[in-house]
Amino acid sequence: MPVVTKKKAAAKKNVIKLKFDTNWSYAPAPESKSAASINSQYDLFINGGWQKPSSKKYFNTINPATEETLSEVADASETDVNKAVTAARNAYEKYWKKIPAKERGKYIFRIARMIQEKARELAIIETLDGGKPIRESRDFDVPTAANHFFYYAGWADKLEYAFPNRRTEPLGVAGQIIPWNFPLLMAAWKIAPALATGNTVVLKPAETTPLTALKLAEIIQESDLPPGVVNIITGAGATGAAMVNHPDINKIVFTGSTEVGKIIQRAIAGTNKKVTLELGGKAANIIFEDAPIDQAVEGVINGIYFNQGHVCCAGSRLYVQESIVKEVIRKLKDRIETLIVGDPLDKNTDIGAINSQQQLETIHKYLKLGKQEGAEMYESSCRLPSKGFWCRPTMFTNVAQSSRIAQEEIFGPVLSILTFRTDDEVIEKANNSPYGLSAGVWTDKGSKIFNMTKRMRAGVIWANTFNKFDPTSPFGGYKESGFGREGGLHGLSAYVNLIG
Ligand code: ADP
Repeated sequence: MPVVTKKKAAAKKNVIKLKFDTNWSYAPAPESKSAASINSQYDLFINGGWQKPSSKKYFNTINPATEETLSEVADASETDVNKAVTAARNAYEKYWKKIPAKERGKYIFRIARMIQEKARELAIIETLDGGKPIRESRDFDVPTAANHFFYYAGWADKLEYAFPNRRTEPLGVAGQIIPWNFPLLMAAWKIAPALATGNTVVLKPAETTPLTALKLAEIIQESDLPPGVVNIITGAGATGAAMVNHPDINKIVFTGSTEVGKIIQRAIAGTNKKVTLELGGKAANIIFEDAPIDQAVEGVINGIYFNQGHVCCAGSRLYVQESIVKEVIRKLKDRIETLIVGDPLDKNTDIGAINSQQQLETIHKYLKLGKQEGAEMYESSCRLPSKGFWCRPTMFTNVAQSSRIAQEEIFGPVLSILTFRTDDEVIEKANNSPYGLSAGVWTDKGSKIFNMTKRMRAGVIWANTFNKFDPTSPFGGYKESGFGREGGLHGLSAYVNLIG
C-alpha cells in the first residue's frame, strides 16, 4: 500500500483537471504582402541589365492560392537564349576564369548576405508565386538558399583542398534549368557551386514560379557581380530546349521530371556537353515495429504533406511492419485531421496551394486511379478555399505493390500505405521502383539502419528523420531519378575538369 503523506494528500486536492476543448482553431496570423515588392512586368536579365524579349511576348505568373495575376514575365526565344549564352561566354573568357579565386568567393559571400538581408521579402514572394506555406519558405527555402551561397563561397579559394593533388579547370558556360517546387533554393543549389568553380551561368526558372529567381537577379545586379557572369532568363519548355541545344553551352544541369530529363539526355547524346540530372522520385519510408511510433508518424506527415507533397524526395510510399499497421494508420488519420490547409501566407498553415491547375489535375487523376485499383482512400475533412488550387491531405491503404499509385510519382499530398513482415521483403519492395532518389528508415536499432541503408538503392536515406538538408551533404539519385550529385564536395566536382 502506498503511504499517503499529509503533504501528498494536500497536493492531490489541488490537482486541476484540464479539460481539452477540441472545438477551437488558431486565429489567423497572415504575413503581410506589403513587405514584398513585385514589378508588374519583368524583362530578361542578360549581361548585367534588363533586356526586352526579342519576341516582345510576355506571360502571366499567378498566385495559385487566389488565381490572381502577380506579374507578367518575358518569354525568351532562341535569339534571347543566344544573347544570354554570348554574354556568359564573354564574361567567362574576359574575367571570370581569370580573376583570383578569393575574389570570386567575395562576390558569392556578398550574394549570400544580401539574400539574408532580403529574406522576408524573398519568402513572401516564394509563397505568393508558388503556393507553399510561408513557414516553409521563411524557415527552410530562403535560409537554406543563403546557406548554399555561404558554403560554396568558402570553397572558391580552397579547391586544391577539395581535390587534393589535382588541378581544376572550370567547364565554361553552365545552362541551368530548374523546376517550380523550390525555385530560389534550386537556383542557389545550381548558381553557387558553378560560380565558386569559375563557371558562368544562364539560368531558367520554371514558368509558373519565376519571381524569386528574378529577385535574385536584382540582388546579383546590386552585388556588382561582373556583367554576364549570371544571366537569368524566363520562358517555358521551348526556352529550356533552346538552352539544351545551344552549341556554346558546356554543361546542362537540370532538375525536373524524368520525362523531360530523358528528352535532354537524348538531345545532348553525341555532343561534348556534360550533364547532371535530378529527376523524379517515389521514396520508400519504412517503419519497423521497434520504431518510436509517434516520432515516425510525425516524420511521415512531414515527409509527404508539408509543402503539398511537391518534393521529388517526398516519402510517398509508406511501408509499415504488419504488427503495428493498425496503430500507425489510426495515428496518421488523427494527425491528418489536425493539419491546417489554406492561406499559404498564414503562419499557421501546414499545407498551402497546389502549384498549378495542371498539377492539381494530375493529382486528381491519381486519386481516381487509386480508387479504381481497389485501394481504400481516406482524406482529411477540412474545408478548402473556394478559389485557387487545393487538395486535402489524402492517404490510401490496401495498396498493392504493383499499383500505379505505388509506382508513379504523384507530386501531391497523397500517401500510399503498404505493409511488410521481414527485412528482406521490405528491401525487395522498396527497391522495386523505377526511381531511387531518397528513402527513410524508422527503427530503434542502429544495426538495422546500417543493414537497410546498405541494401537500399536510393541516393539519400534518412534514419529516424526525413527531408533534412544541408549544403555540405550531396543529393541525387539512382535509376530514373537521374545521375550526378548536387551539394557538398560532390556538387563542386560537377562543375570542374580534374587535371593531373
Ligand atoms: P515538372 O513536371 O516538375 O513541371 P518539368 O520537367 O516539366 O517538371 O519542368 C522542369 C523545368 O524544365 C521547367 O523549367 C521547364 O520549363 C523546363 N522544361 C520543360 N520542357 C523542357 C524541354 N523539352 N527542354 C528543356 N527544359 C524543359
